[in-house]
Amino acid sequence: MHLGPYPLERLRRLSDASADPPGLKLRRPTPTPRAAASRLSAVSAYGPYVDMFDSLRNGEVAGEVAPFPKDPQSVANNLKASVYFLDADMAGTCLVPTDAWRHRLEHHHALVVLIRFKTGVTPDGPGAAWLEGAQQMNADLRAAEVAAITAAYVRYLGFAATAHTATASDVDLERLALQCGLAELQGGRVVNPWLDDQFGLAAVTTTLAVAPDAPLARRGIRRRRATRGARAFFGLGGIRPTWSLLGRSKRPVHLGPYPMEKIKRVKEPTTLVIPDEIARVPQRASFFDRALHGDLGTSFVEKRHTFAYKTPQAQSYVKMIRAMVPMQDGPVARQIARDTDDPDANSDAVKALGYFLGGDMVGICRADEYAWYSHDKDGKPINPDHANAVVILLDQGYETMEGASGDDWISGAQSMRAYMRGAEIAGIISQHIRNLGYSARSHTNAKSQVLHIPLILNAGLGELSRIGELVLNPFVGPRFKSVVLTTDMPLTADKPIDFGLQDFCAKCTKCARECPCGAISFAGKVMFNGYEMWKPDVEKCAKYRLGNLKGSACGRCMKTCPFNAEGLMSERFWLGVSMRFPFMRRKIAEWDDLIGNGSINPVKKWWWDLEWIHGRTVLPTKGTNARTLDFGRMRIADTQKIALYTPDMNPAPDNWQPVKLNRELAIRQGAKAESPEAARLRLGRRR
Ligand code: SF4
Ligand code: SF4
Repeated sequence: MHLGPYPLERLRRLSDASADPPGLKLRRPTPTPRAAASRLSAVSAYGPYVDMFDSLRNGEVAGEVAPFPKDPQSVANNLKASVYFLDADMAGTCLVPTDAWRHRLEHHHALVVLIRFKTGVTPDGPGAAWLEGAQQMNADLRAAEVAAITAAYVRYLGFAATAHTATASDVDLERLALQCGLAELQGGRVVNPWLDDQFGLAAVTTTLAVAPDAPLARRGIRRRRATRGARAFFGLGGIRPTWSLLGRSKRPVHLGPYPMEKIKRVKEPTTLVIPDEIARVPQRASFFDRALHGDLGTSFVEKRHTFAYKTPQAQSYVKMIRAMVPMQDGPVARQIARDTDDPDANSDAVKALGYFLGGDMVGICRADEYAWYSHDKDGKPINPDHANAVVILLDQGYETMEGASGDDWISGAQSMRAYMRGAEIAGIISQHIRNLGYSARSHTNAKSQVLHIPLILNAGLGELSRIGELVLNPFVGPRFKSVVLTTDMPLTADKPIDFGLQDFCAKCTKCARECPCGAISFAGKVMFNGYEMWKPDVEKCAKYRLGNLKGSACGRCMKTCPFNAEGLMSERFWLGVSMRFPFMRRKIAEWDDLIGNGSINPVKKWWWDLEWIHGRTVLPTKGTNARTLDFGRMRIADTQKIALYTPDMNPAPDNWQPVKLNRELAIRQGAKAESPEAARLRLGRRR
């Protein structure tokens, strides 16, 4: 993981890491490029987020130094992997050269982060007007995000650290990039071997010692070609082939990185949804809120405050998530901007901006009334005031998932990382839509007025799966978190999709077998509050996620699902087979088990198992989950009972007293739930 997506390890370097990079004296200062922004450009929406990351570049250091391996190479590997987890394109480390300081701090080491410009952006492509002049700012913002979070993480480990960004820095970022070999001088210009000058930079300086990378050695034209040549292309002698990086460069940005346009679209979701029978629920009824109010017992109240954030990594993401909450809504420009009344053009532009900012999937649907909570966290009624919803999915990271059990010490951080990025993306898009004169609000894990699941389903980003209250996407499977923004801007809705998942999940029970607490149903689908679904036992799931002592939260169902795949050619092939040949689905599920998918790949485990308790980082007191596949767990299918907490069992929206769960009644509700076939018969609907 610490080697990152580009084969930086192939580049010839100086033997002395503290030597000056070749040609340093000939360096010309790079003028800050400020491309002209059009009337519709999103550039001004970035401002509040740039300021927010800059305001958090410094902070308090944990009172105690954490117990992690202090050898500088392990530290360098961990920090680089941390920033690759945050989707940095390249990372390097160095000793801070004296001439790099603009304002000297007592820090000696630096980690430098590089973010490439987005590919697929053309001057007249769909959404181009929104992206005009934003490339540099986009890369700088993303670099600032990664640096601010990483500096916070280092401080949680007990060492001083400061982030330096394009807009707030005590160091010369290009000088550091040269020192750590992320850039070289060509004709006095600072360029990257693969990207020329199409990138943004940020850095973290720290008192934590990291093994430094050396500056790049002088390279002739032949060696420069070799960096981009056939050996690099096919990955010979390196870690990853560069072909895997080039594939997306010609794809228009508004289509996103995954070929969702190739998936079959249908008029209605593949599972029955009866809007008239859906009772809107208050936020007070969500199981995590119920835990907060003591409904699950007093021991879960405190756990609810820590469960997904009890690692230094997750703490650093949560810090940013909280800082973004006040920006989720805001004042709307008085006048509607010209040329923003075409729903198709607006939809393309929204998607282009969503992908440009780093979203993995973007879909659009109507914000139907039934998808809104009835009451907010304070018990106040919610008015469904926006007609449209934009849904964005954030991949939780294939490589990290490979190294994890799904319920170990990275699990909560995986969720929080995706939520953090989602809050940033939806926040900037909402801000831009408001600048154009339309009302818009983002709905994040920290504050949401809408239920995400029906919206993900209706926006055509997946089908409901056996995991239950989880929509599964054909390309990233269940391995994502979502963010939503609602708006009154005219938009064109996407259609739901059908990639054969209902039949696949009917033939596969891997997630049910691997769930540590047996919360996923082995049985068939039922009707629950107007939805056809494999209803999970949310009480069991919530209690396991909150109470997990050998890890932080849980995502083991996501880890072990056969659709937890990277968009590699071989896996795309199997997706195609599954879609075209239903009789192969059972076999594919069996093969997935046979080849050991869902077990831990130790090469990819890059994080340290650490726990954040009461303001300090310690070794986990109860150890670490390190599960592998457990075929014998099929036995639990025979005795499984699923509790169904129907809407009539919910606490009142403003009841802040503990409301005890009635599990026996909920199990009885589960046993007598209506089948989807019976519901269809009742409604006179055919399949
Ligand atoms: Fe089971 Fe964990 Fe998935 Fe919940 S999150 S259903 S506990 S595997
Ligand atoms: Fe469906 Fe199998 Fe994935 Fe569960 S593990 S969601 S049954 S495909």
